[in-house]
Amino acid sequence: MHDVIVVGAGSAGSVLAMRLSEDPNCRVLVIEAGDVPTSEDLFPTAARFSANREATTVPNHPNTWSYELSITSDRRWKTPRGKILGGSSAINGSYFVRGVPADFDEWAALGLDGWSYEDVLPSFRAIETDQDFDTHAHGTAGPIEVRRAANELLSPLSVGFLEACERSGFPVEPDKNAGSAPGAGLLPGNVTLEGFRSQPGVRCIVPHLGRSNLTVMGNTQVQRILFDGQRAVGVEAVGPAGDRTNFMADEVVLSAGPFNSPHLLMVSGVGPADMLRRAGIEIVQDMPGVGRDWFDDPCIWVPYRPTPELAIHRQEMFAPQAALNFDSGNAPAGDLEVILFAQPMGALGHAMCVILHREDSRGSMEIVSPDPGVPLRLAYNFGSAGRDIERLASAVATCLDIMHQSPFHDQIEEIAPHISQFYKDDTGLTTWVRDVFGATAHTAGSLSMGKSTSESTVVDRNLRVHGLENLRVADASVFPTPLHRGPFATTMMIGQKAAGLICDGDEKSSRQSAEGYLLASNGGVADGR
Ligand SMILES: Cc1cc2nc3c(=O)[nH]c(=O)nc-3n(C[C@H](O)[C@H](O)[C@H](O)COP(=O)(O)OP(=O)(O)OC[C@H]3O[C@@H](n4cnc5c(N)ncnc54)[C@H](O)[C@@H]3O)c2cc1C
Repeated sequence: MHDVIVVGAGSAGSVLAMRLSEDPNCRVLVIEAGDVPTSEDLFPTAARFSANREATTVPNHPNTWSYELSITSDRRWKTPRGKILGGSSAINGSYFVRGVPADFDEWAALGLDGWSYEDVLPSFRAIETDQDFDTHAHGTAGPIEVRRAANELLSPLSVGFLEACERSGFPVEPDKNAGSAPGAGLLPGNVTLEGFRSQPGVRCIVPHLGRSNLTVMGNTQVQRILFDGQRAVGVEAVGPAGDRTNFMADEVVLSAGPFNSPHLLMVSGVGPADMLRRAGIEIVQDMPGVGRDWFDDPCIWVPYRPTPELAIHRQEMFAPQAALNFDSGNAPAGDLEVILFAQPMGALGHAMCVILHREDSRGSMEIVSPDPGVPLRLAYNFGSAGRDIERLASAVATCLDIMHQSPFHDQIEEIAPHISQFYKDDTGLTTWVRDVFGATAHTAGSLSMGKSTSESTVVDRNLRVHGLENLRVADASVFPTPLHRGPFATTMMIGQKAAGLICDGDEKSSRQSAEGYLLASNGGVADGR
């Protein structure tokens, strides 16, 4: 019997398990479907080096899950997620930028007390040690090492790009994690000087595997949540040898990511009743919000060829070095992003990634079988609402403008010809963008946090599943609205904050005072619905 079972040792689950198990009286069981290497050097190269793209480009890579979705009504798309200790943070771009203050203030305005920017800031600080800034906004003692490219690892391309942004009239944003106005600046990354990922699996779990109250099981996949009436009492899981075991606990937390957490709920009988019945699943709780209206950021890659002396490829170099955040001219502000990748991205070569944040389109998810091994039917439904495609196309136009601005323009020999043909041709550009855009894997919002009075929400402000006992969700699924930036740092913040919420406030505050993390991160939210 455990106090807490955490399902999934990904970006949020790893932080959560580390913080919970700081209390020697809290027995924590983490169940992870992927490998759990017991030391950093046992991680495969693909997961270890930030600049390595193998896990995301090799089909059926052993360290990834692969999902097939429809991206628009007439196009299919494949997207990976990490399946190894650290989850998607073991294969992601290591871009470590928080949501902006307005994102969290919007969450608080939805009635989610405890989630304003001021409330979540201590949790952001608690997860990081920022190597470059030591201000009120930054952490100095957290497990994740955060830095911006510097010295010989700062590519002249990044410097040229930032200068071109400035010459194009965009403001400078020197610290993208300070909550200041959007502009052009170096990107914070969770990377070491050697180019290793400073990711939560490595930094939050590996050093604490010796804790007697922390058990981490790898290659073990949770199949369903076990209920006694409306109370979660444990999970059923299948181990590496195919052995099926029930694990019991006082509380179950789903941290299996924005596709697998809702899938686990649905296969366990929690979801839209009609859909579950059609799939042959017995209902535990009708919950229309499960898997509904989730979101992802559409994106497009703009490849370029730098002059030969700048075409550097170094394993220790952090690739997404600089970014411009700016407005499409429509509300909400700061919805567009152009990221400069300063070294080749596998077969794609050097490229800029153009991203639309704050999209209006919403994804859908349908369960079709009671067998957890049968994939969900997933659709992004991009282009189904608002002006998402037009906004993304306007960002590509800005990206092309910057590529034609000195000094960046002098550093590149060629912009991909199939794209440069649309420079100054807005109509052709929009048509082309509609035909070829992709998705960033910034999926979130499939188990949205909100008041129980709203049909579309699933968890309350304390991350408890509405109407059920002893069951919470702590991962990217719970975002109530899309962010203005990538989701990774914010997802880790949710793991940190969840630990504070799970603990009985007063008792836990004193238990944690030696390290001070939970005390700092709880944000004073009373436990209740
Ligand atoms: C290729 C890629 C690149 C990205 N790049 C960036 C970036 O640079 N910056 C950024 O901000 N965001 C990026 N993202 C998004 C970001 O990484 C994710 O939003 C974030 O990691 C999500 O964290 P999570 O805890 O919700 O899920 P995950 O980190 O995916 O963790 C889920 C964990 O649960 C495990 N699991 C799933 N199902 C089960 C089960 N049934 N039983 C047991 N375990 C299970 C998984 O194996 C995994 O370890 C990227 C994502 C991808 C996939």
